[in-house]
Amino acid sequence: MRLKINRAIVNCLIRSAIETYPTETSGYLLGNHRISEASPYQCPRRSVYSVVREEKSARRVFKVVKFLGGKFVGEFHSHTGDDTGLSTDDIIAIKNLHAELKPLGLKMKKWIEIIISVYEKRKSQSRPYINLTQNKTNLHVTLPKSKSSVWDVNLRAYSIDIGSGHSETLKLSI
Ligand SMILES: [Zn+2]
Repeated sequence: MRLKINRAIVNCLIRSAIETYPTETSGYLLGNHRISEASPYQCPRRSVYSVVREEKSARRVFKVVKFLGGKFVGEFHSHTGDDTGLSTDDIIAIKNLHAELKPLGLKMKKWIEIIISVYEKRKSQSRPYINLTQNKTNLHVTLPKSKSSVWDVNLRAYSIDIGSGHSETLKLSI
């Protein structure tokens, strides 16, 4: 399966993940077959190892989205100093939120989760770049951080079957 996202969405995800580094970011995705909007939650509980959005925040966002227009299709979060793998805890958190939003009208078979991995690395000779790698399933970005270091960012998208919890890596098209 392919997921279409545009540069504005990619930029929002990268900005959000770097802004909160070394703690993690978390946010929501709106769209349909393509992601049309992304926005970070503003008051989750963050740490270096996890980010927990308040379910109250997600409920509020979900209700307002219904009136302002847009369709809730999933979420994103970052892993700082870790890879873009989807953990069992990630899947549990997704299923819990889906159950929480169900009484408000959320009915999703497939949930989209984008994971942004951020590392701080010593500056390499290569210039900053943005590139789709690994058969278009991974977006790799390096950005300048300081004279001696760069942000090394990888982004990967998953489709999670809410019923079974089974996940599939999505090919990205930007
Ligand atoms: Zn995670």
